[in-house]
Amino acid sequence: MTVYDVAVVGGGLVGSAIARDLAGTSLSVALVEARNDVGDGTSKANTAILHTGFDAKPGTLESRLVARGYDLLGEYANQVGIPVEHTGALLVAWTQEELDSLPGLKTKAEENGYKDCELVGPDRVYETAPRLGAGALGGLTVPGESIICTWTANLALATEAKLRGTTILTDHHVTDARQVADHTVLATGRGDVAARWVVNAAGLGADVLDQRFGFSRFTVTPRRGELLVFDKLTRPMAPVIILPVPSSLGKGVLVSPTIYGNVMVGPTAEDLEDRSATGTSQKGFEFLFGKGEKLMPELMREEVTAAYSGLRAAIDSSDYLIDLDATQRYVLVGGIRSTGLTAAMAIAEHVMALLADTDLDVTPRAELPDRPRMPNLGEATTRPYQDADRISADPEYGRIVCFCERVSAGEIRDALGSALPPADLDGLRRRTRAMNGRCQGFYCGAAVTTALQDGAAQEDPHG
Ligand SMILES: Cc1cc2nc3c(=O)[nH]c(=O)nc-3n(C[C@H](O)[C@H](O)[C@H](O)COP(=O)(O)OP(=O)(O)OC[C@H]3O[C@@H](n4cnc5c(N)ncnc54)[C@H](O)[C@@H]3O)c2cc1C
Repeated sequence: MTVYDVAVVGGGLVGSAIARDLAGTSLSVALVEARNDVGDGTSKANTAILHTGFDAKPGTLESRLVARGYDLLGEYANQVGIPVEHTGALLVAWTQEELDSLPGLKTKAEENGYKDCELVGPDRVYETAPRLGAGALGGLTVPGESIICTWTANLALATEAKLRGTTILTDHHVTDARQVADHTVLATGRGDVAARWVVNAAGLGADVLDQRFGFSRFTVTPRRGELLVFDKLTRPMAPVIILPVPSSLGKGVLVSPTIYGNVMVGPTAEDLEDRSATGTSQKGFEFLFGKGEKLMPELMREEVTAAYSGLRAAIDSSDYLIDLDATQRYVLVGGIRSTGLTAAMAIAEHVMALLADTDLDVTPRAELPDRPRMPNLGEATTRPYQDADRISADPEYGRIVCFCERVSAGEIRDALGSALPPADLDGLRRRTRAMNGRCQGFYCGAAVTTALQDGAAQEDPHG
């Protein structure tokens, strides 16, 4: 049996970022994922904000890694083509109590190393976001807050991990771990995977896997966040991210533009027991509608294109739980709740620093493959259907398959032939935006399904 140097369990943003860094050394790496694709857990269903970390708890590991992750992911996005829009955010106070708390939030931002916040009066608030509901008393600007494509971020990290030699084992749900001589054998539904070191980046499943290493130090509580996505015609209503004043219950409900040209309202915060409860609810819808009526009543008269939800891996502590156990050659990366998109690359850097003090040689390799160039799913820069030169060189980029999102046959073909091809329609959606628009696949569903089936048949002529 192959014994990898390191097996990373969990192909979300965090595990993919760690695998990519590890694969930049001479170590052999496996990325072990229970689902049929990377980025199919919490990492696919968040609010997709690249946070500055202005409101983190100062002095925590999370505060440090979010600030560092903001820089790392921002730079990486430019290098590989992950769509980002530097819209900035405006935190709005609606009550006297909230208004009184704004100077404290500015000080907190400064303690977190973020110095660009500015206190503004109601005039500036309405100048910045004219469609906001009545009654805002003042605000705090956070110019660095940005929106990003979480799907492309996860795919870029996993793709680069693969290009650097990582073995990606999807459909491998780890059910047990046992120590054998100098390595660990992970039992999965598809056979054993052996590795000298194991990194647990299993998100919602991190506590269960941690128990397999003999620990009982934390419990994950899935905290559901539901969001409503509004039609693209509403995009001018949200020129910036409109944030509420955070409370003890979390960051609260925001109104944000999306990288795909929509506006979204959410998320809710509801503690559940079921770790697979990613459905949306009537209660969540009504709650968000109530909040939206106050924040931006005009938006609530517009059409909702989609509703979705994600589960934050909340734990009993208010900080990330990252710990290395040298005896079992095991690293836990737990409690990456509501900032893991932003922090993922900094978490990976932190894990690499921990591993540098072990028997693993984490010296970067001199020769690395070229970085991947990801397809652009964002509205801020030219998409293939808008690029006359590209279409004349390859007419498939001019043949639209998904009309709502303007996705061309060329992009679908490219996704199916990519280093990490999709396993199903949802995976194809995350790679292209196909079926993500106002008709939700009603019009293009058959054509997209056929393309996926044809692509799969070409990959496996006997299948
Ligand atoms: C509603 C909401 C809004 C958010 N908004 C933001 C935001 O705006 N900005 C931001 O920075 N962050 C945000 N986050 C947080 C961010 O999405 C998460 O912190 C991040 O996605 C966590 O990544 P992960 O890799 O740890 O987890 P996941 O993406 O869940 O990945 C873990 C993977 O491990 C796999 N796995 C689990 N158990 C096993 C096992 N036993 N064997 C094999 N594989 C296993 C799972 O299938 C999964 O794919 C938000 C989260 C939510 C829910």
